[in-house]
Amino acid sequence: MSMNQQCRLAHRPVGMPKSSDFLFTEEAIPTPKTGELLLKTRYISLDPAMRGWMNDAKSYLPPVGLGEVMRASTISEVVASENTAFAVGDFVFGSEGIQEYSVATGKGLMKVNPELASLPTYLGTLGMTGLTAYFGLLRIGLPKEGETIVVSGAAGAVGMIVGQIGKIKGCRVVGIAGEKEKCDYVVAELGFDACINYKTDNMHKALRQHCPQGIDIYFDNVGGEILDAVLTQINKSARIPLCGAISQYNGTEGTKGPSNYLSLLVNRARLEGFIILDYVPEFLPAIQEMAVWLSTGKLKTREQIVTGGVKEFLPALTMLFEGKNTGKLVLEV
Ligand code: NDP
Repeated sequence: MSMNQQCRLAHRPVGMPKSSDFLFTEEAIPTPKTGELLLKTRYISLDPAMRGWMNDAKSYLPPVGLGEVMRASTISEVVASENTAFAVGDFVFGSEGIQEYSVATGKGLMKVNPELASLPTYLGTLGMTGLTAYFGLLRIGLPKEGETIVVSGAAGAVGMIVGQIGKIKGCRVVGIAGEKEKCDYVVAELGFDACINYKTDNMHKALRQHCPQGIDIYFDNVGGEILDAVLTQINKSARIPLCGAISQYNGTEGTKGPSNYLSLLVNRARLEGFIILDYVPEFLPAIQEMAVWLSTGKLKTREQIVTGGVKEFLPALTMLFEGKNTGKLVLEV
């Protein structure tokens, strides 16, 4: 009988996580008891937030404990069921971690329909990253027709959906990404109005050129110098959904905050953080609306699948911090 391969957090990383920070273990595949089900992991979500979960710091979720299976969102298949609410062959979204098998009670699991969308899409556009874009933009960004939205991490899982929803809402959308191919993709394939390459373009000049009416909404996925540059060109009453700050996650000298923050004061602007988990009760109608946009071609999805199973977790996660993904990065198990 095959075994359950698992990836556990062995040490708290300093800077970029390295292989010695993780331990690969094998244990017997668990047997579900009455009321439980056995899940076979099919796809694992790779998220920048995982880096934060490895730190021993107060956050919106407790840190992953040393020795514990690394936390991750998953799509799994029910392979044995002692729970009448789930049948063998069902697919479920959950948080089963970096492992091949898990036993669950059903609590917190959400069934997904592989006939409506591909399974990895439920980790991206119809999952946490799509929902992050949806609620962050619509509830905090509050876009109005004709306004200008700038979004960083534009070709990533969250950013690509932010820009497309911005277009659905009748806004001018300017992306920021780190490669010419990514910029070309969001403009030519996703309908963004323009995209700035932050590695090669002069940010201030490019923002002035592509946002002639100033910036009403900046959806911030990256923080750091890009946030500072955008702050110099926001409009009065601008909104800045603070979604993430990937440029800071592996820093060893503390998080660098925006030095241009007085622009918020001068412009009576709002920089507001949010955590997608606060919107759980509203997920279903949002997923339904995005599923309609997907099926009618208003919204395009893209997933980048890494193969090789749980052993590939660290190289795959590292791709996010090196900008090697376009769209939602997913590990196939
Ligand atoms: P992405 O798919 O966007 O992947 C990360 C991308 O970030 C990379 O491809 C890279 O693209 C870019 N990047 C990496 N390092 C840097 C850097 N130093 N400076 C600028 N850009 C960088 O990831 P997600 O869409 O999953 O996540 C995007 C953001 O949203 C993250 O900050 C994440 O933590 C946050 N998030 C927040 C949630 C919430 O509830 N608030 C929920 C989910 C995600 P490039 O080539 O353009 O550099």
